[in-house]
Amino acid sequence: MAQQTDIERLRDGIRGRDRRALAQGVTLIESERADHRDQAADLMESLRGAGQAVRIGLSGAPGAGKSTFIDSFGTMLTGQGRRVAVLAVDPSSALSGGSILGDKTRMERLARDPDAFVRPSPSRAHPGGVARSTRESVALCEAAGYDVVIVETVGVGQSEILVADVSDVFVLLVAPAGGDELQGVKRGIMEFCDVVLVNKADGDLRAAAERTCADYAGALRLLRRRPADPDGHPFAMAVSALREEGLDAAWKRIADLAEWRLAHGHLEDVRAAQARRWFEEEVRRSLLERIETPELRAKIVKAGVEVEEGAISVSAAVRRLLRSLGDL
Ligand code: GDP
Repeated sequence: MAQQTDIERLRDGIRGRDRRALAQGVTLIESERADHRDQAADLMESLRGAGQAVRIGLSGAPGAGKSTFIDSFGTMLTGQGRRVAVLAVDPSSALSGGSILGDKTRMERLARDPDAFVRPSPSRAHPGGVARSTRESVALCEAAGYDVVIVETVGVGQSEILVADVSDVFVLLVAPAGGDELQGVKRGIMEFCDVVLVNKADGDLRAAAERTCADYAGALRLLRRRPADPDGHPFAMAVSALREEGLDAAWKRIADLAEWRLAHGHLEDVRAAQARRWFEEEVRRSLLERIETPELRAKIVKAGVEVEEGAISVSAAVRRLLRSLGDL
């Protein structure tokens, strides 16, 4: 019998729900090395279309309670017989090498749970690479039979848009706020979130959480609901991740929304459009990578300095650079 290649072994391991194989697969797709990229492409192709999960995007400012929430929510779901994967997208690690979301010590219960897969955020230099590896990681988790994939991020930069782009239902987790704070929430995110969960609705914070929840519900009503969604969406709910209250109700509504969208063909449309956008982005990125030789990079840096100094206008510098591409 012909020997199995490494990629076939990985593929079978992932299909066989082996967490170690899944972790190795994710590491492979996070790599930027050209030979790894080729292997990753083979792996993704061999797993195409496998599995189907409810993909939940979760965003919230540091301190809102994301790790506590995911730990409680995920543990509740595994207790109900579901398999849960958690992926993190940390924009700070792409920008500075630092991390807002922190490391593996978050979500301790879930990290030890045999029915869960918790993957800390990749640290890498290229935000475009984060987008690709996040999308592919979601697909790998689905192929590994996870029923729920949670993609977590902090409310910084473009990461929310990326997370919304790989999820079926996008959840914003917030802490109870004092009076005027709602106005500070970025309007943009309110427009694409499906669910606002006001966390910490317990003890002394319960009343504030309920007020905040009412404020969000009011703000959400002012936004146009997505025409495809049933009445009552988007919605706001108060929960306590610490006391594990409201989590099952939140899950039911999230799952109902995902199911509705699936049953009405909307998820299919969204995923098809996501795949197409992803493809076009990847083509652009790969083309750029291919032409961005060290010589071109040097030219870009040099022209950038001239632009910075005001020695040349941006458009003139771009035109000069493009003209020079011919003789690279
Ligand atoms: P993250 O930065 O969004 O991941 O937030 P953490 O999960 O680390 O939580 C930040 C702080 O809020 C911690 O001290 C948690 O114990 C606390 N916290 C999280 N969830 C709750 C909750 O439901 N109720 C209360 N009272 N505190 C919470």
